[in-house]
Amino acid sequence: MTNAMAALSRRAALTPFTYEPGPLPANEVEIAVTHCGICHSDVHLVDDDWGLSRYPLVPGHEVVGEVAAAGAEVKGLSAGQRVGLGWQCGSCGVCALCKAGNEHLCGKSEATAVWHHGGFADRVRSDARFVIPLPAALSSETAAPLLCGGVTVFSPLHRLGAGPGTRVGVVGIGGLGHLALQFARALGCEVTAFSSNPGKEAEARSFGATRFLESSTKGLESARNSLDLLISTLHTPIDGPAALSALAARGTFCVVGASGKPIDLPAFSLIGGEKSVTGSAIGSPSTIRAMLDLAAAKGVAAVTESMPLARAEEGIQRVRNGRARYRVVLAM
Ligand SMILES: [Zn+2]
Ligand SMILES: [Zn+2]
Repeated sequence: MTNAMAALSRRAALTPFTYEPGPLPANEVEIAVTHCGICHSDVHLVDDDWGLSRYPLVPGHEVVGEVAAAGAEVKGLSAGQRVGLGWQCGSCGVCALCKAGNEHLCGKSEATAVWHHGGFADRVRSDARFVIPLPAALSSETAAPLLCGGVTVFSPLHRLGAGPGTRVGVVGIGGLGHLALQFARALGCEVTAFSSNPGKEAEARSFGATRFLESSTKGLESARNSLDLLISTLHTPIDGPAALSALAARGTFCVVGASGKPIDLPAFSLIGGEKSVTGSAIGSPSTIRAMLDLAAAKGVAAVTESMPLARAEEGIQRVRNGRARYRVVLAM
């Protein structure tokens, strides 16, 4: 039996829940979970904000643990090995996107905590292709949030070729933003933090920012034409014209946080300077590997608050209310 914490209905408080997972499929790995981060998406799943939740719902998709069992066809993973598992736990494996190593874009992508029981549990299962060995240098607790939050901000830096001298801005210094600052610094970028909270300046600088500005319209406009890449992690609406004004010629505005409201993008703000707008969500297994290697080499680590699995509901409430500093991790 698997011992988990689950929401039994929409918006319900998490309560203990056990289930029998059945025989292990040949292509899957069962992970004995040691740590699981709480991502804002877990709150959206509990609340069914995206209309795709099924209950009982076991959240959790920032998993670190050890391989407990591997199916007969699984290669390259062995019992006891320390591994991570993020948002994605399956894809078709045969489409052009999967074959090109862009499994996260596959139309048949499956998610660890959607229609599967997730990582707020002592055990969780996944297609072995999405179970990634963890570099020894990473601590399990501070690495757990890298599996979703970390790769979400690393992926656009990686895809857009950010490196030494790239001028990167990060809007919103929370769970995602504090990792974005660290990855941008680890890649050698010049890093600007934008936050509505002046009290975060010292911490933002410790994460790698060399400039700290307000995330307001005024703050974004004060960065005029100075950024090659601006990543917004905000869950509140962002001023689109002001964000575009902060970009240098051929700069890119990348959205990884969603407010649910449209972003205003006037044509002339894009035409002058040939600016681009893109979005990003999670990353492929190969991007996750690259992200973990960089984190291990450069000491990128989430700032975490730890609590036991039994207090998962308290952790969900801290994330729901925006009080996590910066990422809550459940320890099993
Ligand atoms: Zn997530
Ligand atoms: Zn596919």
